[in-house]
Amino acid sequence: MTIAILSALAEEQQGLLDLLHQPRSVTRAGREFWQGELHGQPVVLALSRIGKVAAATTATTLIEAFGVQRLVFTGVAGGVGHGVRVGDVVVATDFVQHDMDASPIFPRYQIPLYGRERFACDAALSAHLLRASRAGLARLKTESDLQDQTVHHGLIASGDRFVSAAEEARRLHADLSDAGHAPLAVEMEGAAVAQVCHDYGIPFAAVRTISDRADDSAHVDFPKFVTEVASRYALAIIDEFVRTLPPR
Ligand code: SAH
Repeated sequence: MTIAILSALAEEQQGLLDLLHQPRSVTRAGREFWQGELHGQPVVLALSRIGKVAAATTATTLIEAFGVQRLVFTGVAGGVGHGVRVGDVVVATDFVQHDMDASPIFPRYQIPLYGRERFACDAALSAHLLRASRAGLARLKTESDLQDQTVHHGLIASGDRFVSAAEEARRLHADLSDAGHAPLAVEMEGAAVAQVCHDYGIPFAAVRTISDRADDSAHVDFPKFVTEVASRYALAIIDEFVRTLPPR
């Protein structure tokens, strides 16, 4: 029962690589995959790469070439929902593509031929990730003077844009909300991985730490946050997630 752990950023993957038992690296589709064991669980670690197409290729390779049966994603995202602050964590319930628009042939945001706008995460795996996020962050808090952060659970929007202007973030949130898809956060990969996992019937869950508010200072906040905070969060959450994962 192999589980894939996809990280968006090398900084997030490094902590997991350090913990990996019997690491073996395999190159496929021009990507490096790491097989091994974490807390006795067979895992494959991979970097998703950035953007929907790259992430879809990585997810497909994990399923087709490595036979993973569950997939979990960690990364950072811009907070666009009300009260979603830098340092908060969002566990996804489902994903929408904010840049999908085949109107007027299909309704805006609908994925052509699927008849749907959203792809859901696996409820049980997401519930486990939510618990692991709360427990992992609580454990970090006892080790350092961490600020208070909220763990949210809800919709995330993906698209091939780094959203870094307050006006753009406001419009993206307003347009999605008008269509009934108000997102908590915006990033660049999750919806693609969710769609691939839907096609294969593979349970998927995703967690994102909020690195910026997708506004005019997003490009400054983002790199600073990734190195200082997000990598520690991702490690604490995934360590807890794998350690307490029930067998299937
Ligand atoms: N130069 C950066 C790349 C940044 S792309 C690097 O490689 O270090 C931003 C990444 O973080 C993407 O993987 C995306 O999923 C996520 N992300 C964080 N904030 C975002 C925002 N405001 N808009 C879109 N994606 C964001």
